[in-house]
Amino acid sequence: MKSKPARDIMTLLGVLAGASTLAAVGLMANPAANAAPAAVLTHPIARARVFVDLRAAWPGGVLAIRVEGSRWATGTTLLDGRRGALARGPSGLFGLVPVAIDAEPGVHTLAVFFPGGRRRGGQGSFAVELGASSRPSRDRPVPAADLLTLETAGLRDGRQLLAAIRTRESRVFHQGFLRPPVGVSPGFPFGGFEDFGGSVGPSRDGLSGEHHRGQDYPAPPGTLVRTPGAGIVLLARNLAFSGQTLVVAHGAGLVSVLAHLGTLSVREGDLVVDGAAVGTTSPTGLGAQGLPPHLCFSTYLHAINVDPVPLLDPALFELQR
Ligand SMILES: [Zn+2]
Repeated sequence: MKSKPARDIMTLLGVLAGASTLAAVGLMANPAANAAPAAVLTHPIARARVFVDLRAAWPGGVLAIRVEGSRWATGTTLLDGRRGALARGPSGLFGLVPVAIDAEPGVHTLAVFFPGGRRRGGQGSFAVELGASSRPSRDRPVPAADLLTLETAGLRDGRQLLAAIRTRESRVFHQGFLRPPVGVSPGFPFGGFEDFGGSVGPSRDGLSGEHHRGQDYPAPPGTLVRTPGAGIVLLARNLAFSGQTLVVAHGAGLVSVLAHLGTLSVREGDLVVDGAAVGTTSPTGLGAQGLPPHLCFSTYLHAINVDPVPLLDPALFELQR
């Protein structure tokens, strides 16, 4: 576990050097070419002021939002029918808004609601522009013998995974950016189309959708895996597609999924501190077959699958301070 001062230094470096710090630690090696206006939008709601960070405003990305000068303790956001939440932290109301992978680039309406009815509540909406994202696709032909497993055990296990991802856990275990779970440069990125062939086609276990759910890290078997952030282990078991799988809820609607592990050193219900060792990699599960050994790291925000890479960027969390 890294100490708080170490994290503060990382944050300071992030502020001083911006994206160059990220490049230095290899976070920007993502081959997906995404374009978003790196700007902070401001908008008044009643006497409060809303700030929205658009640096990861693209399909599969995340908006960071902060509200200043309000008496509200909580808030809700809505973008394309997908919900996000604001919670009061040490320095004001802050939240992350998920942008679904199937959102169209262009101008969208972001609505923000504060509880309290007509007299005490508040709401406002404003336009946010989502940039385009370009993500590489890949074919993943599954041997015929495995297709049946994907259609049966894969579906059953996928529902278990989905149930964990849809947690209503309300405790907040983690503040700020996440860390890469392994010390290996990132490989195949989030979001590209994946086709498994046969009757399974582009779907994958019980999770509907057609895209790669995480960021891969080409880690050799036996590589130590650390939790991307503090949290509670919601699921730690072997699943047909993702193999030995860990689901960690960080709170505030943020969930990490680590797939293709070998040994697991935590159990369901365990609390993990930031950066704690949770297991090692191993090409377990059908999803690891036909590819070089790798760890697959996925993130979900209020059950919406988003690219983990923006969540590794300390700059995205500048509005939280
Ligand atoms: Zn993956």
